[in-house]
Amino acid sequence: MNAPMFSPAVSAIQPWPASLLRRRARELRAAGRDIIELSSGNLDFPTRDHVIAAAYEAALRGETRYTDVDGTPELKQAVRAALLRNHGLSYAQDEIVITNGSTQALFNALLATLIPGDEVIVPAPYWAPYLDQVRLLGGTPVVVPCPQNNGFRLRAEDLQAAITPRTRWLIINNPVNPSGALYRREDLADIAAVLRRHPDIWIMADGLYEQIVFTADCAPTLAEIEPSLKPRTLTVSGLAKTYAMMGWRIGYAAGPSALIREMIKIQSQTTSCASSISQAAAIAALDGPLDLLRERTSILRDKRDRFVALVNDCPGLTCTAPEATFYLLVSCAGVIGKHSPDGTEISNDRDFASYLLQSADLAVFPGEDFGLSPAIRVSFANPLALMEAAGRRLKQACEALR
Ligand code: PMP
Repeated sequence: MNAPMFSPAVSAIQPWPASLLRRRARELRAAGRDIIELSSGNLDFPTRDHVIAAAYEAALRGETRYTDVDGTPELKQAVRAALLRNHGLSYAQDEIVITNGSTQALFNALLATLIPGDEVIVPAPYWAPYLDQVRLLGGTPVVVPCPQNNGFRLRAEDLQAAITPRTRWLIINNPVNPSGALYRREDLADIAAVLRRHPDIWIMADGLYEQIVFTADCAPTLAEIEPSLKPRTLTVSGLAKTYAMMGWRIGYAAGPSALIREMIKIQSQTTSCASSISQAAAIAALDGPLDLLRERTSILRDKRDRFVALVNDCPGLTCTAPEATFYLLVSCAGVIGKHSPDGTEISNDRDFASYLLQSADLAVFPGEDFGLSPAIRVSFANPLALMEAAGRRLKQACEALR
């Protein structure tokens, strides 16, 4: 029997390192180690009580059946209101689909459109699943480096240089996981000017962190900056980060009805619909008061400032305060080439992340997982006391390097 047992396309990709690191941290904890996870994409805020109550009441009312594949009409309406409120964007009911997290919206859109060999432009640093989703579907990710001296943002000229006749999509994440960089209106206008010249390219605008912004209420998105791009833009977002509803798994996409129809077709054959109870909760979150969002952003801003100071106090590490998200992308160039107390050389950021896990009980991501090295990504959506402890461990670990 020579046929491969598993799909070559799936065998060729790796699980997202986040899941592996989470498991490793859990194993070490079970072995008695006091691991601090700075790696998680979870916020340390609870889902609000009125949202949980709405889910409970919906379940008691009997909303425990399949919903329409594309989501309940009421949730689609709440998403439309949010798109109008946040971006001034008007979408019809048939231009919206509710998905199992925004991850599924991204994947279904790629599945609906990619032909093997198609290229998808992904600015780096990036959220890595973009690359593997593209590869899984026979596409080729075209990574465009966006270094810190460009503010971790894609420049119009770099976008232009990456475009070929095979370019199918540009994926643009605003604000950016992992750098916390924010594209302002003028940055997006420059990018839009390039895209106007290439009418065959679709735009995937991932705004999952759009309301965790320290310098504005909401990050702008391409379709609002350049309305002529709207017919070929998929505006994607979700409830996970804004409403601290990571585990409820509700995302959404808004775009041209022909694309949305294809995405709904895929969903009908794969997951049927998003959870009915989570959809009821999402309505309560989207239609609920906005005051808490501002309060939480201000708490995160204080944590950011504290953690930036702690990190910059560590020899060999430097970072600047991001304008958005709850991540810091920390340059660790100053520790590369040094040796740990047991004589192991730190040759790259993966070595440094392993050293921190082994010697300081700190779980962090190497920048390599996000396409930017040498760096580590840490989250500051953690209790302050934990971050103070993490800061002390990080400093000791850096001081111990020779
Ligand atoms: N986009 C980005 C940039 C992300 O960081 C994440 C998750 N961390 C997602 C999309 C997917 O999020 P979800 O499926 O929870 O909506």
